[in-house]
Formats: sequence, C-alpha cells, structure tokens
Amino acid sequence: MSLLSKLSIAIAGSSLLIQPLAASASRPYPVQEGSLWLLDYILTTPDFPKAGIQFKSYGPLLKDPAAFKRMIQEFADRYRSAGIEAIAGLDARGFIFGTALAYELDIPFVMVRKAGKLPGDVEQVSYELEYGKSTLEIDKSILSPGQRVLVMDDLMATGGTAKAACELVEKLGAEVVEVACLIELTPLGGREKVGRPVYSLITIHVDE
Ligand code: AMP
Repeated sequence: MSLLSKLSIAIAGSSLLIQPLAASASRPYPVQEGSLWLLDYILTTPDFPKAGIQFKSYGPLLKDPAAFKRMIQEFADRYRSAGIEAIAGLDARGFIFGTALAYELDIPFVMVRKAGKLPGDVEQVSYELEYGKSTLEIDKSILSPGQRVLVMDDLMATGGTAKAACELVEKLGAEVVEVACLIELTPLGGREKVGRPVYSLITIHVDE
C-alpha cells in the first residue's frame, strides 16, 4: 500500500472513508476516482466489441437492489436541489439510470433515441463515431424552451454521443444543466468534447 493510501485511510479514521487515488507525476490521470465502492460492481471485457476496446459493463450493479438504490441516491443527492426540470436519457442504457433518477426526483423523463425509432416530428443531430456516423433524435415537442435538463447516459468515452444529445436538447430551446453518467473513461477527451458541465460517479483510466 502506498504512503498516500495509508495516509488517506488514517485520516478517514473511524468513518472508514477511503480517499480516491491521487494522480502522480508519472501517471497524469488517477487510476480511478469518485465512488470507489462501484468498482466492485463494474466488469471489464478486453477487446469487446472490437480489438483495443475495454468494454465496461455493470450487470452486478443492476442485479443488486441495494447497490442500485445507493447509486441512484448518490445522483439524487447531487440533483435534488439543482432545479432540474427533466432528464433526457440516451438510447439505450441511459434509460436505465435516467428513468430511475427521474422517478426518484419526481420529474419528467424524455428519450433521446437512435435514428428511426421515434414517430412524428423529430429533431436530429448526426455525429462522428470512430468508424462512420450515427444520428440521435428527439421528439420536437417533448421539451419546452428554457426547461432545465439533465442529460444522462451510462458511460462517457470520447463524449461524442453526449455532445450530440446536448445539441438536440438545445435545438429545442431547453438548457443543458449538466451531463451525468455512471462511468467516465479517461483520458479520451470526453469532457473537453462535451463542452458543458459533466458529472460522473466514477472515473476509470483506460489505455485505449
Ligand atoms: P462516446 O460517444 O465515445 O462517449 O461513447 C459513449 C457511448 O458508447 C455510451 O452510450 C456507452 O454506452 C458506449 N460506450 C463507449 N465506450 C464504451 C466502453 N468502453 N464500454 C462500454 N460502453 C461504451
């Protein structure tokens, strides 16, 4: 155990609070920081869905009601008094977290869907993927001008998906208060790309 870790645990004392790992000069990004308890519930599958990607999944978190509630409460504690008026969840895994948080906060949930899934009049934003393009859509009448919106997804990597979702919300005249996700991967430049406030429960360093 490093001196820093020992110090952190000692300082935390009886509260058993373990401090996040700090960045070092040789490693400019922390290995992980935030709600470290979540690490027990996150799995990494190397080279999925293609070589070089460390795929993060969290089946154990969804399977454990106490852990799932604890996670939603952490988001709720941050946003309960933030004046959020709607949550825009990203297709598909953003729906898991966004609907649970909207239920907890007693506010509306709206879907940002992949192209071709929503009937009626939609607004569209296309964005670049590593290979090719993708398009997100939102029902044109689902948000009101000035409405304060939290954009939510499960994970942020390069930030392209979240940025496109923010643009959609703003096209309807609503305001993106923040982008929230369970997991943020660094150092992939996601925060910089999104260009709006970003909050993640846990940050994990990957070498992709
Ligand atoms: P990005 O647009 O690069 O920030 O990618 C974010 C979207 O892709 C999210 O909806 C994630 O569910 C998914 N995603 C990207 N990278 C990973 C990864 N390493 N593990 C799991 N999901 C990922």
